[in-house]
Amino acid sequence: PVRTRFAPSPTGFLHIGGARTALFSWAFARRHGGRFVLRIEDTDVARSTPEAVQAILDGMAWLDLAHDEGPFYQMQRMDRYKEVLKQMLEAGTAYYCYMSPEELEAIREAQRARGEKPRYDGRWRPEPGKVLPEPPAGVQPVVRFCNPADGVVAWDDLVKGHIEIANAEMDDLIIARPDGTPTYNFCVVVDDWDMGITQVIRGDDHVNNTPRQINILKALGAPVPQYAHLSMILGDDGTKLSKRHGAVSVMQYDEDGYLPEAVINYLARLGWSHGDDEVFSREQFVEWFDLDHITPSAAQFNTEKLKWLNAHYIKQRDPALLAADAAKRLGGRGVDLASGPAPAAVVALYRERVNTLVELADALQPYYQSPAIAEELAGQHLTPAALEALESLKARLAVCAWDKAALSAAIKETCTEKGLKMPQVAIPLRVKLLGVTQTPSIDAVLEVLGRERVLVRLG
Ligand code: GLU
Repeated sequence: PVRTRFAPSPTGFLHIGGARTALFSWAFARRHGGRFVLRIEDTDVARSTPEAVQAILDGMAWLDLAHDEGPFYQMQRMDRYKEVLKQMLEAGTAYYCYMSPEELEAIREAQRARGEKPRYDGRWRPEPGKVLPEPPAGVQPVVRFCNPADGVVAWDDLVKGHIEIANAEMDDLIIARPDGTPTYNFCVVVDDWDMGITQVIRGDDHVNNTPRQINILKALGAPVPQYAHLSMILGDDGTKLSKRHGAVSVMQYDEDGYLPEAVINYLARLGWSHGDDEVFSREQFVEWFDLDHITPSAAQFNTEKLKWLNAHYIKQRDPALLAADAAKRLGGRGVDLASGPAPAAVVALYRERVNTLVELADALQPYYQSPAIAEELAGQHLTPAALEALESLKARLAVCAWDKAALSAAIKETCTEKGLKMPQVAIPLRVKLLGVTQTPSIDAVLEVLGRERVLVRLG
């Protein structure tokens, strides 16, 4: 059975790259009827925080990427790592090394001076017939993995293809520190083994760890999973995606008015494709997803594409849900939707015109709170002639029927009376009512705002 995992280090938010890794691991498990494990790699105690753990859980919940097992925390698994260390020391696949950091540095210095690649010289590595030095008194040793001396370590990466590295290129990795705590690569190996992971899907910044992890798994007699290393994500400007690109935490997208469906759809297309299909649901993605359509080259983030998808999902969304979201956002600005026109009716006017929920809230706001009209707008549009026309229109609006046909007739009559063109009345009217020059059709706006509010605002 397929078992995948997402294994974030809780040192910051769930960012776009991590979210895509999580999505692909999740989808692969779903696609194959497998299990998706969440593992928190919190052994870097100096940089891991409970807030970051929470931020990751929040991000995954927002994207609705539910894990089937976990979260498991590496810090709670120390006894298990130590147990495996002990087994390896007993089996001779790991050994104590008493070399001090100063000695190691001295060797490296000499190697560099000779133009060699600095590496551990193997002095504490047990070999048949080799007599090891006497352990120095009072030195806490590290534990090193006995990396195979010969041959190659190879794997068929599900994204990058065949990769192989000569064992001679690799040092005997330190798997426990002098205080006995296990190191990063070792914990990952024990976890992937214990958790029965069958496909490791992760960022390609880990590709150099893979040969080391495979060698340790083999030494343990553990099955070696398949590996899929996802290429990195570049920002809009072609450089590596980073904080500089603004919204890197997925929760920032929530704040900025993106729907999780849009973000999921967008992430799915980031380095994976299914023909020319651009818009598809989460269910469709799970049905189509496989690792053989992942592009090995870097994917470039495209904010316009994401916006376009978001607009698509906003159009599809239940107006009542959009109204609830707008109520929440406007509530945060001290604007109460109970005191104005029916939110669903206003939402219906704007749902097809906005890219984000923030734009939607912005559009709704003046319906519930008389706008402060910018001086520049007033100067340009609320000229004496325009104000005179609005005065005449107001008299008509006070008595006409309140439906689109009658409202539109009232505006037309005003135009004829004053010898003005339609926009010469409609634009000042928009500025006066909503503080903007562009809105949906003006008769629809009037209808939704309601007579009372319109007359007050024209007052
Ligand atoms: N904890 C690692 C990270 O956040 C991921 C390790 C792995 O997937 O093997 O980059």
